[in-house]
Amino acid sequence: MSATPQYIAEPGGQVPVAAVSDLVVVGGGPAGIAAAVAAARNGLSVTLLERYPYLGGLASGGMVLVLDDMCNGEEIAVRGLCADLIERMERMGLAVTPPESDRRSDPAMWRKWSRWGVFDFTSHQKPQPIVYAAAFDPDGFKRASNDMVAEAKINLRLHSWFSRAIVEDGAIKGVICESKEGRQAILGKIVVDATGDLDVAASAGAPFIEGAYIVTTVFRLGDVDIAEAERFEYEEPEAFKAIDREAKRAIGGSWDKWWLKTPLPGVVWCNCPHMANYDGLKVDDLTRADFEGRKRIAALVGHLRAKMPGFRDCFVVDVAPQLGIRQTRLLEGLYVVTKEDVAERRHFADSVARGRDYYTPYRSLLPRDVQGLIVAGRHYSATSSAQRMSREIPPCMAMGEAAGVAAALALESGVGLDRIDVGALQMRLRAQGADPGDVPAGNATVLKAAE
Ligand SMILES: Cc1cc2nc3c(=O)[nH]c(=O)nc-3n(C[C@H](O)[C@H](O)[C@H](O)COP(=O)(O)OP(=O)(O)OC[C@H]3O[C@@H](n4cnc5c(N)ncnc54)[C@H](O)[C@@H]3O)c2cc1C
Repeated sequence: MSATPQYIAEPGGQVPVAAVSDLVVVGGGPAGIAAAVAAARNGLSVTLLERYPYLGGLASGGMVLVLDDMCNGEEIAVRGLCADLIERMERMGLAVTPPESDRRSDPAMWRKWSRWGVFDFTSHQKPQPIVYAAAFDPDGFKRASNDMVAEAKINLRLHSWFSRAIVEDGAIKGVICESKEGRQAILGKIVVDATGDLDVAASAGAPFIEGAYIVTTVFRLGDVDIAEAERFEYEEPEAFKAIDREAKRAIGGSWDKWWLKTPLPGVVWCNCPHMANYDGLKVDDLTRADFEGRKRIAALVGHLRAKMPGFRDCFVVDVAPQLGIRQTRLLEGLYVVTKEDVAERRHFADSVARGRDYYTPYRSLLPRDVQGLIVAGRHYSATSSAQRMSREIPPCMAMGEAAGVAAALALESGVGLDRIDVGALQMRLRAQGADPGDVPAGNATVLKAAE
């Protein structure tokens, strides 16, 4: 009897070229959308590839429904394309932001806004201050992204799974995708890896580390009497705490405020259950996490219906189509951002993006050893602990915007991505409405050059 083989040989053959453009962006999540739109607005022809049938990544398919971590005290640190997207969703009635007059630490404002998730979760003040942030609808995010991509005349190719980087003599030339039409080659002068899992850079041979963090099957509940739920929370705090504690036990892993409001009446989103020891790159783990998450959601809903005022008639509207993966591979780029860099708000002379009160150096978007490739988003070059503190949607969009403009500058000046004039990149980003962090805020740590 012959043993089951460990490998089989694949036939070689030719792959049709489905698109050629100046820039290829792989991954249509927040970072990839921003990279593609920024590059196209700066004159590049752009192909944007996405495996799923919609744009938005974790922001839409993962139903992560607050754009936060974008304020340094009262200052809004992330602007540019992120602000553009929020304004579009607001015009659709599908995003809610607190007005300036409500943004402060105040018990009345806490009661009014905290269930929208628009507070500074890093603050030690009590109550935590209400800050500029946006609670949004996932379909609103998809529609606004579609509009931005269509207006910029980007060649968007959904249903396209990246499978392999095409690398010649240390430079990336394009990528191979799997699709219903079979394999397709997409060629470009520069490639942005915005897959969140560093799929392209890893395939191209760039060094990386393997990070990990909790995963979450986010879901939404409908027919919630939100006014009654909030009345109970504030007017019967002891009874609320007891039932809420049991709810947290039933779901088995959540932040303190495990449900938050959405722009849809009677619909809340639940950023839970958090589950440990699942690898976001392994098919078996991704499959098991779906089963585990749904089991825990059912247990929670049973408890809520029986016990929690405001939730007696609730039902599951949907479980996010994408499992909430926070961290997998992280680039080991020209600079690796550390926890101290983020926590101490260290300023970098080559800062090209901001989040909250920290700065992202251009070097942390550039891989070692591969020319023509730049990364943006949650897999940027950072240690695992630094990434956990610096991976929210707005900073990922800011990185994408910087990567897209950097690609345009490299092609305009005919130099490699690692040779562009970073001062010119910062100036262009600022002129186009973004804040690259070239000017350190008052609370930044500015390191003096060694004498
Ligand atoms: C449960 C959870 C809660 C969170 N809460 C918040 C929050 O409240 N606020 C906040 O701002 N952030 C939050 N975050 C973090 C935030 O959602 C992510 O860090 C952010 O979305 C990262 O953006 P990205 O573009 O780098 O990656 P992603 O959003 O992961 O987008 C990557 C895109 O690439 C595509 N892709 C991946 N591989 C391939 C491939 N092989 N071929 C083609 N396409 C591919 C994906 O489908 C996806 O569209 C949360 C994250 C999780 C998981």
